[in-house]
Amino acid sequence: MNAFKEIETRRTFAIISHPDAGKTTLTEKLLLFGGAIREAGTVKGRKNSKHAMSDWMEIEKQRGISVTSSVLEFMYEDYHVNILDTPGHQDFSEDTYRTLTAADSATMLIDAAKGVEAQTKKLFKVCKMRGIPIFTFMNKLDRQGRDPFELMEELENLLGIRSYPMGWPIGMGQSFSGVYDRVEKKLELYNPNNPKEIDVISLTGPDDPLLDEAIGDPDLVSQFREELELLDVAGDEFDLEKIKNGELTPIFFGSAISSFGVQTFLDHFLKLAPAPTSRASSNGIINPFEHQGFSGFIFKIQANMNPAHRDRIAFLRITSGKFERGMSVKHVRLGKNLKLAQPTQFLAQSRSLVEEAYAGDIIGLFDPGNLRIGDTLVTGPSFEFAEMPHFSPEHFAAITVKEALKHKSYEKGLHQLTEEGAIQLFKTYNRFVEQQIVGVVGVLQFEVLEHRLKSEYHVDIQLEKLPFSFARWVSGPEKEMESFKKNQRNLVTDRDGRIVALFDNDFQMRTAIDKYPGLQFYENSFIK
Ligand code: GDP
Repeated sequence: MNAFKEIETRRTFAIISHPDAGKTTLTEKLLLFGGAIREAGTVKGRKNSKHAMSDWMEIEKQRGISVTSSVLEFMYEDYHVNILDTPGHQDFSEDTYRTLTAADSATMLIDAAKGVEAQTKKLFKVCKMRGIPIFTFMNKLDRQGRDPFELMEELENLLGIRSYPMGWPIGMGQSFSGVYDRVEKKLELYNPNNPKEIDVISLTGPDDPLLDEAIGDPDLVSQFREELELLDVAGDEFDLEKIKNGELTPIFFGSAISSFGVQTFLDHFLKLAPAPTSRASSNGIINPFEHQGFSGFIFKIQANMNPAHRDRIAFLRITSGKFERGMSVKHVRLGKNLKLAQPTQFLAQSRSLVEEAYAGDIIGLFDPGNLRIGDTLVTGPSFEFAEMPHFSPEHFAAITVKEALKHKSYEKGLHQLTEEGAIQLFKTYNRFVEQQIVGVVGVLQFEVLEHRLKSEYHVDIQLEKLPFSFARWVSGPEKEMESFKKNQRNLVTDRDGRIVALFDNDFQMRTAIDKYPGLQFYENSFIK
C-alpha cells in the first residue's frame, strides 16, 4: 500500500459518554468485529475482566471509572481504526480536551433510557470546541427507554446540534424487534432469545411486505411506518457537509451488549468519518495528504502504566508522513534530535513494538523526561503545532509532604504529575514562607494525586483545601502589573513563573478586573 492509501484508510476517533452508558461494552464489541480480541467480556464475569482492558490504574479499579485515556487500534476490512478512550468522569475535561485534539471525530454514546446526561453535555461541549464531526449511538434499546423522537429532540435542544437518524428502531424493550437502516434499506432483526444471531433482510423500502412478515406484530409495524414518514417529512435531510462540520449528527440505534446495531454503526461510520485531518501549525496548515515529512504532537503523558517497570510514556499523534522505528526526529521545543527507538502501540494490555505507522496513528514513546504535552516532533523544516490550552482549575489545595525526609521523591512525583497534566502546580507569590498550591479541574483528581504519590513514590501528603474557585493568568504593561502585584491578594506563579490570580468567587474576580482595566485576565494558559 502506498502512503496515500495508508493514510486514507485510517479512522481515529474518540468515544464520549456518561458513565454506565455502555462505552466499555461498545468498545469491546468494536474490537471483536476487528478480530482484535477473541472474546469480549460477557455479562457474566465481565466485572472481573472489565478493567483489564483499557483501564490501567489501581484507583480506577477501586472507583470503577476510567481515569486516563487509552488507545486501542484494530483493522476492520481495509480500515485501520484507532479508538481513543476518553475519561468518562466529569472531573477530567482537560484530559478529555487533549485526547480530542488527537481525534478526527467523536462518537457520542447515549443510554436511551436516560437521554443526554450531565457528562455527555460537558464532553459534547469540548467536542464542539474542536469542531469535529460527531456521531451518536443510542444504546440499550433492549431495555425500555424513552421515545426515540423525544431523545432526538432532547439531543437537538440541549446540545444545539441537528440530527439525522441513519436507522429507526421498531419497538423498544420488551417489544424491541429490530432497526431499519434508512440508507441501505435493510432490516436488522433482533432476536431476544439469541441476540447474537442477527438476521438482516434487504427491503425495497419501509412499505415492503417482507417487513410485516418479519416483524409479525401489525401494531408495531404501522407505528414504525408512521414514525418513519414523519421523519422523512419533518426531519433534517442527510447532509455530509454538515456532518463534517459537526453541525449534524448521524444517529444510530442499537444494543451494544448484544452487539446489535454495532456492525451497522461501524460500516456507516467508517464511510462517513473523516480520514486523518489537517492541523494548524506555525508554518500554516499541515495536511497529511500533502505534507510529505513526518510530524506529530504529544497530547498525553502517562507514567507508571505498568507497576512492574517504571516507565513514562508520551502519546504522540502522527499528523503527517510515515513513522519508522529507529528514525531520528527533531524535538522542536528543545531544538535537538531524538531517536524514536522503542515506540509502542496499545492494544488491550499487551504492548507491541511499532515498526511503522502513518498519519492518524497514535504511538507511545518511552520517554526519560524530554517530552511535554504540546511538543511537536518533525523531520525536515521545523514548525510547531498550535498550543494546547490549560483550563483554569476549579479546586485548589495547599500541599505538603508529611515526612520531610521524603522531600526528594515528593518533588519528583509532583513534577511528574505536573508534566502529565494531571495537576497544575503553583507557588505562592511574594510570601515570607513559600507554599505550594495544587489546582485541579475536578476534586477527584486530589484523590488520584494522593493515591499516585503514595503508590508510585511512597510519599504521604497532606492536602488542605483552599476556598478558591477561579484562576486567571494576568498580563499587561509593566507599571500596572507592578501595582497589581503589590496590591492584589492571593497571587501565585505557575510552573513557568507567570503570575496567576486566585479568586473565591465570580464577584471577587469581577471586582479585580474592573479595578485594573489595563490588564488582561486569561482563563486558559498554554502548556508551553
Ligand atoms: P461504561 O461505564 O460506559 O463503560 O459502561 P459499561 O460498558 O461498563 O456498561 C454499563 C452497564 O450497562 C453494564 O452493566 C453493562 O452490562 C450494561 N450495558 C451496556 N450496554 C448495554 C445494552 O445494550 N443493554 C443493556 N441492557 N445493558 C447494557
